[in-house]
Amino acid sequence: MTNPPLKRVLVEEGADRFPSVSRILKRIEGIPVERVSDRKKEKMSGPLNMDKTSLRLISFPGEFLKPCPGTKGYICCGYQILNVGTNCPFDCSYCILQAYFNQPSLRIFVNLEEKLHQIAEVLDRHPDRIFRIGTGEFTDSLALDPIAGWSHVLIPFISERNNAILELKTKTNQVEGLFSFPQRNRIVISWSLNSPSIASREEHGAPGIRKRLEAAKMCQQEGYNIGFHFDPLVHIPGWEEEYKRTFEMMDKLIDPNGIVWLSMGGLRYMPALKAIVRKRHPKSRILVGEFVPGLDGKMRYFKPIRIQMYGFMAEMLRKWHEDLGLYLCMESHDVWEKSLGWSPKNSEGLSHFLDRRAVKFFG
Ligand code: SF4
Repeated sequence: MTNPPLKRVLVEEGADRFPSVSRILKRIEGIPVERVSDRKKEKMSGPLNMDKTSLRLISFPGEFLKPCPGTKGYICCGYQILNVGTNCPFDCSYCILQAYFNQPSLRIFVNLEEKLHQIAEVLDRHPDRIFRIGTGEFTDSLALDPIAGWSHVLIPFISERNNAILELKTKTNQVEGLFSFPQRNRIVISWSLNSPSIASREEHGAPGIRKRLEAAKMCQQEGYNIGFHFDPLVHIPGWEEEYKRTFEMMDKLIDPNGIVWLSMGGLRYMPALKAIVRKRHPKSRILVGEFVPGLDGKMRYFKPIRIQMYGFMAEMLRKWHEDLGLYLCMESHDVWEKSLGWSPKNSEGLSHFLDRRAVKFFG
């Protein structure tokens, strides 16, 4: 059985001419393969069936590298999104992708390698800028990597450049594939973390927190720099004790000196996601609590709750290590001030802060 368990592979018209397709099919030999016309794109029968057992190989016609649009009214980090595929084999109850895409199946863009020169052109046009690039916006960066082979293409490409950092953001613990490269420079492997109970109740199919941290430890031992993202922080009864359990595991397993950055973000969701969560994850507890619409239209916890959560987390984390590159994701100036005791003031300020972290670790 493949991991993730796949029932079929759909190769879209035009995708076959890219060499990565035969490499991918070889990695999942034995799974039935169908050739499908691009025009026959399957529409999702409502958002309920995401069909995560089908893998679709696609030649992506759009631009691979794009600035993260951020969110209106909050401080964002100036990230660049490298779009290598969509959907993910895990099934987190809060996943925003459930409301984003109206097309089913796991999707890998097979023409990434052929588009590298376009990405290189963009990077070369701005030699004085630092591009912090991530692939984990519309898929998990590494959960499909043993099949897609994204890291084989991207790690050597980015580690040779002077003005880019590649962050591979994941919940997986299958990281052994990353150890076959000699390159470590300019690469950050990062994990999405939560409390152990949120991980087991809400992050369906994803490895638990200990396994993620053990994978992070292995990466550190193999010479990678790492990052963490406590996102989404979920306010359920007993949350302090729950998150403390995660800190205790971090303390045992992780060397904090190798952490490039660590972000926190409170649970937020587009209103359309609520009905989808109720239907797809009827046992989920993430909608428990009171939410208010934020400046960007997304539902968030009340400000005092967010401040309390970030403040508590920051205190625990700073006791562990003072220099973790701690930052907040999509928060306002006053929430920064009240919870972390300082603020980058605006998105430009946060970009500079993270660029300085990148320079500190990679020069
Ligand atoms: S790991 Fe990320 S992309 Fe995958 S289901 Fe969970 S939130 Fe969505």
